[in-house]
Amino acid sequence: MNIIYYAAGANPEVWLNAFHHYLPDANIRIWEEGDNAPADYALVWKPPAAMLRGRNDLKAIFNLGAGVDAILQLGDALPQGVPLIRVDDAGMGVQMAEYVSHAVLRHFRRFDEYDSLQADKQWRALPQHQKEDFSIGILGLGVLGNCIIDGLRSSGFPLLGWSRSAKQIAGVECFHGEEGLDAFLNQTKVLVLILPLTKETENLMDKTKLAKLKQGAYIVNVARGAHIVEEDLLSLIQQGHIAGATLDVFREEPLPSAHPFWSEKRIHITPHISALTVRDESAKQIAHKIAALQRGESVVGVVDQIKGY
Ligand code: NDP
Repeated sequence: MNIIYYAAGANPEVWLNAFHHYLPDANIRIWEEGDNAPADYALVWKPPAAMLRGRNDLKAIFNLGAGVDAILQLGDALPQGVPLIRVDDAGMGVQMAEYVSHAVLRHFRRFDEYDSLQADKQWRALPQHQKEDFSIGILGLGVLGNCIIDGLRSSGFPLLGWSRSAKQIAGVECFHGEEGLDAFLNQTKVLVLILPLTKETENLMDKTKLAKLKQGAYIVNVARGAHIVEEDLLSLIQQGHIAGATLDVFREEPLPSAHPFWSEKRIHITPHISALTVRDESAKQIAHKIAALQRGESVVGVVDQIKGY
């Protein structure tokens, strides 16, 4: 079996070691410009168009991450009819759950305000927020959205969720579709974004939608920066409708040094680390899927290229 590999910004040696471990009989090579030799599978992260263009003989393309927005931008360069398969969880879900739980609790327990009091050497207890006023709304109820819900479930916050199709999730009030979005936002105090970036979800949270959140709402974005109109978020924070945000993703990454988010104290910034790909877990998952495909079985995580996720 021949496999081609290309991952932008990654150390190929460590990835190849992991793949060799789980696919000992495969002939895996790093793809380079001009390599048109046959291949059965491609393992990719943000590949150049030339790697995949015309490769209709591939049995599948494996995206080395959960988000497929970057690879779908290749458009016509993606070979028609070749399944594109993304990584499901593979160790990212627990990281997402930790990150979101931390952001929610930091806001709920007023730790930022206590940091300010400490800076002024003030010993003062602030009134506690009430859990019943702290509904957490999760935009995106897929693999990672469900891991976030599992991480929050025992904390006792009211949980709301929004997805494209109708869902029933124990302990979560579920909304769906465009028609369900406003009712979901109206009840949400902490908004967690874990949607894929598609035509429908780009700029979804603009000033009109952000203004529908409860007064004093808080935003946690662990999905993609382009879901939020950044200047609208900033102005709603400055107007006081939104209390603050914890943001892991941005329209432009790295976040430019002149970006106003850096100097807004109510915004916490991390450099796209809320869930890092766990190499070994991902390589194991992909190897199992390749074995299943070789046996003629179906696998989960096949991207619907029309829907965009
Ligand atoms: P899934 O595909 O499993 O879930 C996507 C969810 O979003 C589904 O519930 C889907 O609804 C919902 N959705 C999609 N489009 C719409 C829409 N137009 N309206 C309403 N709901 C919609 O994805 P994952 O949970 O695995 O990952 C989500 C995203 O997280 C990734 O695409 C990636 O961009 C991001 N990510 C970020 C990382 C980081 O480090 N910051 C790391 C990993 C991923 P339905 O269930 O009805 O289809």
